[in-house]
Amino acid sequence: MAEDSVWLHRFGHFSAFTELAQGVSGRPGGVSEGQYWSLNIGLGSDDDPEAISENRRRLAGALGIAADRFVRPYQVHGAEALVVGREEVEAGLPGPADVPRRVDVLLTAEPDVFLMMTFADCVPVLFYDPARRVVGLVHAGWRGTIAGAPRRALDLLQKRFGSRLRDVLVGIGPSIGPDHYEVGPEVAAAARAAFPACEGLLRPGPRGREHLDLWRANTYQLVVAGLPPENLEVAGLCTACRNDLLFSYRASQGRTGFHAAVIGLRA
Ligand SMILES: [Zn+2]
Repeated sequence: MAEDSVWLHRFGHFSAFTELAQGVSGRPGGVSEGQYWSLNIGLGSDDDPEAISENRRRLAGALGIAADRFVRPYQVHGAEALVVGREEVEAGLPGPADVPRRVDVLLTAEPDVFLMMTFADCVPVLFYDPARRVVGLVHAGWRGTIAGAPRRALDLLQKRFGSRLRDVLVGIGPSIGPDHYEVGPEVAAAARAAFPACEGLLRPGPRGREHLDLWRANTYQLVVAGLPPENLEVAGLCTACRNDLLFSYRASQGRTGFHAAVIGLRA
């Protein structure tokens, strides 16, 4: 039945590459209940761990991959990066706790390793270089965006993997949109200081506070770094507008589950 199936946002420009498993999950198709309805992938909530495991299995099934091949870091809203290499893979991929590293940028060229991070408003940024066969995933809330986490991924693709900017494709996933992302004056000031020439970064909100456009801030920093704009695809789906389809921390006053972004190369 359609209402039981896992919903995935898949990026169009990645879809041409059959070697790639990629997408951002949503709420439909899982077994969690209440505020965690239904495909909650987030650990650290008081949701039933059995339900989360089942949700991960269902997500893996929808992506056509094995559930024990996900690699997920402990996300800390920073810009530190980890390249998952042979060594990590040969050491055996851990289970649901995954990489015990506090990073918000993951890259790998290893096939059958699927990078995963969880989100409930923050911006998932997915990277693929089909020429070098490297994938990347970034967790960018306002802190990671301002700290330049997506820019860090692009730098590493160039320096560690020899990627050429014209080959790198980027997907900016569902996340809180500028219509719903009211921020305080200190965050607005930090964003302005980080991206002084970014047009449309902030806009006046109806309640006297500004709204920050994270999609634009992330697009901007990658384009300024040299990524051709046509290599970027922005989902443009707001988690707070579509709280029926996606988890949103803001829309649920902090009592929320988490959807996942995944990217990796099939074996
Ligand atoms: Zn919205």
